Amino acid sequence: MSSKLPNEYAACPCCKKKLTGASGIQDDTSVPGPGDLSICIYCGTILEYEEGFFLHVAPDESLSRLNSEEPEVYIQLIQMRDAILAYIEARRTFFN
Ligand SMILES: [Zn+2]
Repeated sequence: MSSKLPNEYAACPCCKKKLTGASGIQDDTSVPGPGDLSICIYCGTILEYEEGFFLHVAPDESLSRLNSEEPEVYIQLIQMRDAILAYIEARRTFFN
């Protein structure tokens, strides 16, 4: 389950794939706001939401702040990013 976001133009700044949906770590139906962090499901880049559901690569300061203020959420984020990267690598290995 995930929530569909009202911006059909939002895309990952790294892989350029459209990102029009999101799933929360604790609540699948939550909608992200400016400053919330996300992970591109296509390339594993950690992203940060802007106004209007646009995204940029999460700056180191945002990751450091999350790590100091909510270390358990930071660990979940990194583990999820690592799982996505492992999935991408497994797919690449399987299909090539
Ligand atoms: Zn991407």
